[in-house]
Amino acid sequence: MDLSSATPSDRPYRGARALVIGGSIGGLTTALVLRDIGFEVDVYERTATPLHGRGSGIVLQPDTLRWFEERSSTDPAGLKTCTDWVQYLDRDNRIIAHEQRRWEYTSWGTFYRALLDDFGTEHYHLGAYASGFDDDGDAVTVRFADGRVENAELVVFADGINSAARPHFDADAEPSYAGYVGWRGTVPLGELSLETRLLMSDAITYSVVPNSHITLYPIPGEEGVDAADQLMNYVWYRNVAAGPELTELLTGVNGFVGAVSLHPGQVQERFVQELRAAAAAMLAPAAAEVVLATTEPYLQVVLDVRSRRMALGRTALVGDAACSARPHAAAGTAKAAADAWSLRDALLAADGDISGALAAWEPAQLELSRSLLARVTEMGDRSQFHNTWVPGDPSLRFGLYGPGILHPENRQPQPAAS
Ligand SMILES: Cc1cc2nc3c(=O)[nH]c(=O)nc-3n(C[C@H](O)[C@H](O)[C@H](O)COP(=O)(O)OP(=O)(O)OC[C@H]3O[C@@H](n4cnc5c(N)ncnc54)[C@H](O)[C@@H]3O)c2cc1C
Repeated sequence: MDLSSATPSDRPYRGARALVIGGSIGGLTTALVLRDIGFEVDVYERTATPLHGRGSGIVLQPDTLRWFEERSSTDPAGLKTCTDWVQYLDRDNRIIAHEQRRWEYTSWGTFYRALLDDFGTEHYHLGAYASGFDDDGDAVTVRFADGRVENAELVVFADGINSAARPHFDADAEPSYAGYVGWRGTVPLGELSLETRLLMSDAITYSVVPNSHITLYPIPGEEGVDAADQLMNYVWYRNVAAGPELTELLTGVNGFVGAVSLHPGQVQERFVQELRAAAAAMLAPAAAEVVLATTEPYLQVVLDVRSRRMALGRTALVGDAACSARPHAAAGTAKAAADAWSLRDALLAADGDISGALAAWEPAQLELSRSLLARVTEMGDRSQFHNTWVPGDPSLRFGLYGPGILHPENRQPQPAAS
C-alpha cells in the first residue's frame, strides 16, 4: 500500500492500539512507523527524564535515516554531517590506505530529538518501567513497576541490550562480553590544530595498533551541522580482561559499577590518565590529539547477544533487545530501524492479522541478526586478538547487509544458518 498520500482514516490499523516499550532510537522509529499505518501508539520509557547525552556519534545508514527521507517534514540535511574519504594513518600521520567513499553521521542527541519532535510527547511516557506482560491471544497486557497496567493489540519491545522481555522470547540469550571496551569522546573541531582538522575533517579516520584500533569522524554539535559547530567523535577499542580488571574500570567515581557503560564524568581520573598516556604512545598523532583533548572520555562495554525468537503471538522484539552486535559494521541503529520498517511491511501485507504478520516478519529479521553478529564478531576478533585488521581491506567496510552493502537488495548470498 502506498501511504504517501494516505490520510489517517485510510490507514489499515486505525483503531488498534500498540505499545512500544523503550523510547530510544529503535523504540521511537517503531512508534512512528506503526502510527503511520494507523495504530494508536504509546511509548513507555523507564528513564524519568528526556534522554540526552547518550553516546555520541552514529554512522548513518539508509535504514536509520529512512523515516526522515520518506515520512517526515524534517529535512534530513539538518541532522547529519558527511565525509568523502576513508583513511588509515600510521604513527607519523601518513595516509597508508585510503578510499573515496562517502559516509554520513549524526549524533545520538540530534537524532533522538528529531524523532521525538515527530512523535510528540503526548504519548511518550517517561519513568515507566515495563516489568511483565501476558498475551491471551486477543490482546497483550503489560504491567509496569509503578502499578500501571496497559492493554494493546500489539506490543513491541525495544528495550535494549538488557531487555527484560527477551527471556520470554529466548531464555538462553544472555549478553556475553567481547573482551574489550569502546572508549568514546568528542572534541569541538575548532579546538583541534589546523593540521589535524585539515587531515581529518573530510574523512573517517582509522589508526590501527596492536590488538586495537580507533575510529574518528566528525558529527553534528549541539548547535548544528555547520563545520563551526561540529565535533570530532571517536571510538577506541581496547582490550580489558573480564573479571576484577573490568569491574574496577567500570567502577565510577560515585562507587557504582556500570553494567554496560560509564557516562562522561564518571570514569575514575587514573583511568583517564592511562588512556591519554596510551594514546600519546600508540596512536597516529592526529588521533592522539583528539583523545588528549577530550575533557571527559567515557566507556561502553562491547557485548554480543542474539535472541533466537523475535515474535511471540502479538509481541515482538526489535533493535538491541533482539540482537546487539559489536559496533564494527556501524549498523546497530540501522538494524533497529530495519526491524521496524519490515514489521510495518509485514503488518500491511497481513490485512489485520497481527500475530500472522509477526510470524511472517520474524525469519528474515532473525537471519539478519545472525549474519550481522557473525560478521562483526569476526571483524572485532581480527582487530583485538588476531592482528589481521589490514588497513584498507574492503571486507572491513561498514554495512548492515554486508561490507559496504547498505540496501537489502544488494546483499550477497549468505552461508546457511547454523
Ligand atoms: C561503542 C558503540 C558504538 C556504536 N556505534 C554505532 C554507529 O556508529 N551506528 C549505529 O547505527 N549504531 C551504533 N551503535 C549501536 C547503537 O547504539 C544501538 O544499536 C542502538 O542505540 C539500539 O537502539 P535501541 O533503541 O534498540 O536500544 P537502546 O538505545 O539501548 O534503548 C533501549 C531503551 O529502552 C529503555 N528500557 C529498557 N528497559 C525498559 C523497560 N523494561 N521498560 C521501559 N523502558 C525500558 C532504556 O532506558 C532505553 O532508553 C554503537 C554502540 C556502541 C556500544
